[in-house]
Amino acid sequence: MDRTHDVIIIGGGSAGYAAARTAKDAGADVAIVDQGPLGGLCILRGCMPTKAILRTAEIAALIQRAQEFGLAPAAAKADLKTIIDRKDRLVSEFADYRIGQLRDPRFALYEHHASFLSPHELQAGPFRLTGKAFIIATGSVPREVAIPGLRECGYLTSDDLLDLRDQPSSLIVLGAGPVALELGQFFSRIGTSVTVIQRSPHLLSHLDDDIGTVLKQALEDEGVTVFTDTALTGIRKGVEASRSVSFIHRGEPMTVRGEQVLQAMGRRPCVDDLNLEAADVRVVDGRVVVDGAMRTSQRHIFAVGDVTNLYDIVHIAIQQGELAGFNATHLAEVPRQFDDRLVTEVIFTDPQVALVGLSEKTCRVREIPYLVASYPFSDHGKAMCRGDRYGFVKLLAVPENGQLLGAQIVGPEAGELIHELIAVMYYRGTVYDLMRMPHYHPTLAEIVTYPAEALVERIDKR
Ligand SMILES: Cc1cc2nc3c(=O)[nH]c(=O)nc-3n(C[C@H](O)[C@H](O)[C@H](O)COP(=O)(O)OP(=O)(O)OC[C@H]3O[C@@H](n4cnc5c(N)ncnc54)[C@H](O)[C@@H]3O)c2cc1C
Repeated sequence: MDRTHDVIIIGGGSAGYAAARTAKDAGADVAIVDQGPLGGLCILRGCMPTKAILRTAEIAALIQRAQEFGLAPAAAKADLKTIIDRKDRLVSEFADYRIGQLRDPRFALYEHHASFLSPHELQAGPFRLTGKAFIIATGSVPREVAIPGLRECGYLTSDDLLDLRDQPSSLIVLGAGPVALELGQFFSRIGTSVTVIQRSPHLLSHLDDDIGTVLKQALEDEGVTVFTDTALTGIRKGVEASRSVSFIHRGEPMTVRGEQVLQAMGRRPCVDDLNLEAADVRVVDGRVVVDGAMRTSQRHIFAVGDVTNLYDIVHIAIQQGELAGFNATHLAEVPRQFDDRLVTEVIFTDPQVALVGLSEKTCRVREIPYLVASYPFSDHGKAMCRGDRYGFVKLLAVPENGQLLGAQIVGPEAGELIHELIAVMYYRGTVYDLMRMPHYHPTLAEIVTYPAEALVERIDKR
């Protein structure tokens, strides 16, 4: 069956749906092809299910601290089945809403696997679809890693872990990125003995080292065993279905045992069976290569979200989708470009980690001059009242005029607090603005005025 559309979007997750909505609003005839299950990673196996279960872990951690706050000692016994049932109820509500949006008659929805036949044609089940423009938004899948014995012994990915109803007594987490740490801390807080094994010298190795250092301390203080700077050598099945993970740590061979292994060493773009060769779309190291307009090596084919392997963050996938949806419907015009000035990331560990703009690492690599100041939560009145000990706020500013270049927060409610700094950066504000803006006392938010003040003093003295 042959059909023709103005814009054909492959993948109806966060990036694809945003692209579809934007292209439709621009007046295009839009088709979405999704092989299912409909809903996208964020809703089905990403942001939402993890945040649903992390809420349980937060409550458990507070209950365990009852005595510190003058309450009778209390214990919280976790029931993983109930935790997962609650998560499933929420996920199904969110997914129903998204499925309703995708099945809106504004769009032509093809619930089939898509694969390119040529730069202008797709096969989607029995349909042969021809399009003026295409947007690839096929997301990502867990990355396979070559560790001797891993596949033979069996392991879990975050996809599997979110459906686990039998709580393991012990869990070995391979990797220390956001997903590894969020899930590792969740299991630790509900009573599983957790060991994290990380190759790099720091947790969250893509960020400034001081962030990983604080987080390591916080996790260790609540009972997670953390090994950094390791080289995995192999995995073997032990007695009674346990697994032994061997690795070199600071030159010494070591082995840890656990009931389950979580392989959380990242995801890879999903381009499987998409037949991108037929479309002549450039793929490097498994990722679809795009320019600043989200355009691939073909002028009329765009790619957005995890399939580009640029960020793996949902609001950025949406921004990219909107941009590609616009550019795909204005092919004759100069394309709009993605603005990475305000790239933001939040990691929902406790303490949370949140950042916007440039880090010290990036400034050093790009040779961008910056001034930096930070202030610890352990010395901040409101945090002390709440009993929050870990973390800091760090601001980076232009040395000449104090314009904010970036901000990083490790600490309580970091994911909420970062939004003030995003707003200031959005309007190209300075550390002087942060000082002048009223901050209610006592709040966590007022902590940003301390590093701002330190920077103001240094700029004024220059
Ligand atoms: C455990 C976990 C927690 C996360 N937590 C957060 C968080 O807190 N905050 C955050 O910002 N990000 C988080 N992320 C990342 C975030 O979920 C992703 O960046 C985002 O969902 C990617 O959206 P996408 O549209 O690119 O891909 P997806 O949502 O995966 O959509 C891809 C769609 O393409 C379809 N598809 C694939 N191939 C084909 C094909 N050949 N034909 C037809 N259809 C196809 C799939 O069925 C799917 O519906 C998390 C990720 C994980 C794994």
